[in-house]
Order: sequence, then structure tokens, then C-alpha cells
Amino acid sequence: MAVGYLDVFPHPARGGPEAPMAFEGLDFYNVDSHFTDEERMVRDLVRNWTEDNVIPIIEEHCRNATFPMHLVAQLGDLGLLGMNLDGYGCAGMSNVAYGLACQELERGDSGMRSFVSVQGSLCMFPIWKYGTDEQRQKYLPDMATGKLIGCFGLTEPDFGSNPGGLVTKAVDDGDSYVLNGAKMWITNGSIADLAIVWAKLVPPGGTLADGRIHGFIVEKGDAGFTAPQMHGKHSLRASVTSELVFDDVRIPKNRLLPNVSGLRGPFGCLDNARYGIAWGALGAAMACYDSARNYALSRIQFGKPIAGFQLVQNKLAWMLREITKGQLLALHLGRMKDDGSLFPEQISLCKMNNVDIALQIARVARDIHGANGVLDEYPVMRHAANLESVYTYEGTHDIHNLILGRWITGIQAFQ
Ligand SMILES: Cc1cc2nc3c(=O)[nH]c(=O)nc-3n(C[C@H](O)[C@H](O)[C@H](O)COP(=O)(O)OP(=O)(O)OC[C@H]3O[C@@H](n4cnc5c(N)ncnc54)[C@H](O)[C@@H]3O)c2cc1C
Repeated sequence: MAVGYLDVFPHPARGGPEAPMAFEGLDFYNVDSHFTDEERMVRDLVRNWTEDNVIPIIEEHCRNATFPMHLVAQLGDLGLLGMNLDGYGCAGMSNVAYGLACQELERGDSGMRSFVSVQGSLCMFPIWKYGTDEQRQKYLPDMATGKLIGCFGLTEPDFGSNPGGLVTKAVDDGDSYVLNGAKMWITNGSIADLAIVWAKLVPPGGTLADGRIHGFIVEKGDAGFTAPQMHGKHSLRASVTSELVFDDVRIPKNRLLPNVSGLRGPFGCLDNARYGIAWGALGAAMACYDSARNYALSRIQFGKPIAGFQLVQNKLAWMLREITKGQLLALHLGRMKDDGSLFPEQISLCKMNNVDIALQIARVARDIHGANGVLDEYPVMRHAANLESVYTYEGTHDIHNLILGRWITGIQAFQ
């Protein structure tokens, strides 16, 4: 057999045809050296937890379209629910630590990261930021342990990218608000104990056009509130997605989030969740890269590992390049979030870039696996399918392009 590059330059990170199949985090630029000890500890903890608890069961959940509910309490025990919030039982970790946790969870499955994003960034965050102290005391400690599960209802059947048009309506009626309308595509909806619902609060005698967007806490069991699960997804199958239906639901006045109104409210939450996605997508990309590299090193065609062909190496080198750039973007984004200098357009750039490259990497990884790539023995097709949703939710790829276009030109091109 001819002597190859791997024989001349053996390196454990490169492996070889007999390389162990265990996951190795890709860190070509030693980004690791920029993390604090605490951030590294969180990353390693969540990486090992995902390896032991998520990866062995996730294909089965994906096949059955079920969410692994038994892991919720463990996520709470690990301190991952609302982990970058302070007080009320939350871990108060840095945003970089939160990002690394998202990365490792999404290496397991985008559904796990989605659960944590929705719970922490989309449900706990608005209560923490826009709520009263009474609301914080009532919900946050139990949400941090996973005893209470939350969801976030913004999207409606006719208003996705354009949430300003939403038609869910709350009318002031003495000591309560009466809520009518419907939400769609709501992660965790059917398993949630509470929902943050964004609706237009219409003044007495007014019309929807007079209404201003406010956040309301709707609890499971409120009369007139139902959350039927949506079925038939080819993507994010190990995640619960639901409709929320409000039929004259009476919401006590102390369940309005008093400290925000207008689109600023939901957009503030989305900024946090998009931030986590920017990191999470890297986890899915790293899982696909790792699987493709191992597969390429062990799959023999034309008498040698396919990793020895220039075209395959070109694909792997491109993956390495894009993941490395994405890691540097995410790290800098996290440091800016931690020092308070971050502005929303910077999150848009990182979310759209990292999800875009992750989706492309998942597709190329599927190609490198040949026919085996469509099997659930390998994680690549599941990640590719999941990332199609991630590309669309929390602002579609093109909506982020429009956000950047507005920042560049000062002209908004949404309408
Ligand atoms: C699995 C999953 C989970 C989700 N979870 C939640 C959740 O928990 N809570 C929640 O509130 N929502 C959730 N969503 C909804 C998600 O945020 C929306 O799907 C997203 O905002 C896009 O809205 P839409 O699907 O109605 O697409 P549309 O807004 O109809 O967009 C369709 C296409 O048109 C393009 N488009 C729209 N407007 C413009 C424009 N002005 N210029 C150029 N192109 C445009 C879009 O980029 C896209 O390509 C979830 C979605 C999925 C798939």
C-alpha cells in the first residue's frame, strides 16, 4: 500500500481509517484559549451530558416525533434553564457560557437547544425583564428547575415575518383582560404550563387598529385556552410544536407584563434566542463535520479511503473553514453581549451566517456519507432537516438580510 499523508504526518486530531469514532470538538484556531475556566467547564459538562443522555436516545425520539420529557429536570439540575439570568434560582452565567451550552445541546439535536432557548430566552427572560417582582417570584424559580415549562406565542397563521400585523386581541374588561385569537408554530406549546402571549391590547370601545402589543401570561388550565399539537413535521421531530387557541380567555390583570409595550417586547426576547441559535448551529455543524470526517476516513472506494480524494478533502476543508469563522464570530458576539456593547443587527449577522453554514455543512456531510447519509444510523440527515426550521424560525434568513440592509442603507425594505 502506498505511503500516504496520514502515515507521514500522524496526528490524533486527524485520525486515520482506524480512528476512534468518538466526537472531538473542532477547534482549529484554539478558540478554547479565549474561554474562562468556568465557560470551559460548562462546555465540557454539557458536552458529556449530551453524549451520555441525548445522543443515545434522540434518533428514537425523532422517529416517534416525541420530546424526551424525562430530560427536563436534568436540564434544570445542570442549571441550563435561564442560565444567563440573575437571581430567582437562575445560574447567572456569562452569555458565552450560555452560548457554549447551546452549542453542545444542538450537537445532540436542535430540539434540545430549542427547548432551552424557548424556556430561558423566550419565556423566562420576558418575565425577568418586563414582569413585576411578584410575577418573577411566582414563575422563575420553578422554571429554572424545569418544574414549570414555558412557551412563547408570537407567530400567527397569517403573520409570521410580519408580527406587527398580529390579530390576537385582548380587551380590558374590569378586573381582567379577555383574550381571543390563535397562535401557530409554538415550540413547547402543548407541554407548557404557561405561555407568554403577545396580543394587541385594545382600549374599551376601540378596534384592533387602536391596539398596542403587550405580553400576557396565560396559564395552562385557563378556561377557553387550548394548545393542540401540530403533526407531520419532517424537521425538529424531537420537539413539540403547537397551536395556541384563545376563546374568550380571561386573564387576571396581574398577568400582564407591565414594563414593555409594542414590538420592542417580543423583539427583545428574540434577540436573546437568536443569540443562542448563532452558537447552537455551530454544534449541529460540528456534529456533521465530525461524522463526515470519520466516515470519509473509513469508507473505502477505488482502493483507498474516500478521505484521500481531493474533492472530498475540499469539502472537509471548506467545512473546517466555515466552522472556524463561525466560532470566531460567535465568541466575539458573546463577549460584546457580556460587555453590553452588542446591538441587534450584529446578532442578525451571526444567526444568519452560522445557521446558513450549518445547513450547507449538513447537506455536504450527507453527500460525503453517500447513501448511508440518509440513514438514521448517522446524525447528518436529522441535523439537515432540523436546520431547515432553524433557518426559518427566529427571523428567516432573508428577514435578517433585510435587517442588515436597513442598517447599511438606512432604508427599510420590508414593505
Ligand atoms: C419548528 C418551528 C418552531 C417554531 N417555534 C416558534 C415559537 O416557539 N414561537 C413563535 O412565535 N414562532 C415560532 N415559529 C414560527 C417562526 O418564527 C416563523 O415560521 C417565522 O417567523 C417565519 O414566518 P412564516 O413561517 O409565517 O413565513 P413567512 O413570513 O410567510 O415567510 C415565507 C417566506 O417569505 C419571505 N418573506 C417574508 N416577508 C418578506 C419580505 N418582506 N421580503 C422578502 N422576503 C420575505 C421569508 O423570508 C420566507 O422565505 C416556529 C417555526 C417552526 C418551523
